[in-house]
Amino acid sequence: MTEKKMIKYDGGCICGEIKFTVKLDEKPRVFNCHCVDCRKKLGGIITIIQLRENALEIDESKLSTFTHSGGSKNIITKSFCKKCAAPVTTYVEKWGVSYLYAGLLNDISSLKHAKNIFYKESHFPFMKINEEELST
Ligand SMILES: [Zn+2]
Ligand SMILES: [Zn+2]
Repeated sequence: MTEKKMIKYDGGCICGEIKFTVKLDEKPRVFNCHCVDCRKKLGGIITIIQLRENALEIDESKLSTFTHSGGSKNIITKSFCKKCAAPVTTYVEKWGVSYLYAGLLNDISSLKHAKNIFYKESHFPFMKINEEELST
């Protein structure tokens, strides 16, 4: 097994209560999520980054969580800042995969590409994307 090159980033929420470091691949997997759950929870389209295991270092005592049943009966747990309610992570139980809300990174300049998920199922009519930006 070859060790993948990881780059360390830091980030935090708007009130400053949450601070974290996260290790991401050189080309992290970034998604714009158009799903109804994100819309209802966060108010619109949201950008998430798929995390590798143990990639995120964060003080979990500062997080609240909200668990709900998503599409295809997935159990999904979202975490957010106890103080300002900024969304931090979403965890999909079925896949055992966590995603970080990309907007919390202090430096977003390395996020150059994103795929769009749940676009066909649900998107704002004014949002137009190219076919190659769709997730397959
Ligand atoms: Zn979503
Ligand atoms: Zn906060």
